[in-house]
Amino acid sequence: MDCIFCKITSGEIPATFVAESEHAVAFNDINPTQPVHVLVVPRVHYTDVAHLAVSDTEALADLIQLGVKVAEMTSTGSFRLQFNTGAEAGQTVFHAHGHITSRTPRS
Ligand code: 5GP
Ligand code: ZN
Repeated sequence: MDCIFCKITSGEIPATFVAESEHAVAFNDINPTQPVHVLVVPRVHYTDVAHLAVSDTEALADLIQLGVKVAEMTSTGSFRLQFNTGAEAGQTVFHAHGHITSRTPRS
């Protein structure tokens, strides 16, 4: 399967992880839209967060907890956690991922 996020989570493509957990990794978005823009990505491939949610609730909770941790590390605590789900909602990478964005980075 030719999935860019599988290649990043497996280490096939080198990436700097901002944080890691049992089920997920976090790395900076290549094209940030906010001063803080980090992706939280499950280690196992699911097409989107809806498939993750019905397949592995432990991994889903772990992913959200990692997102909150990253937001606390990188921002003042005001942040968004967004899951684009489906092409018409703007999803372009079909490996589940959450966007942590914040306008107020931790200085
Ligand atoms: P989506 O539009 O699917 O919700 O979000 C995909 C995100 O992945 C986009 O914000 C895009 O900039 C980011 N992205 C795509 N390819 C790469 C990559 O190879 N490395 C990193 N770090 N981010 C990527
Ligand atoms: Zn994948």
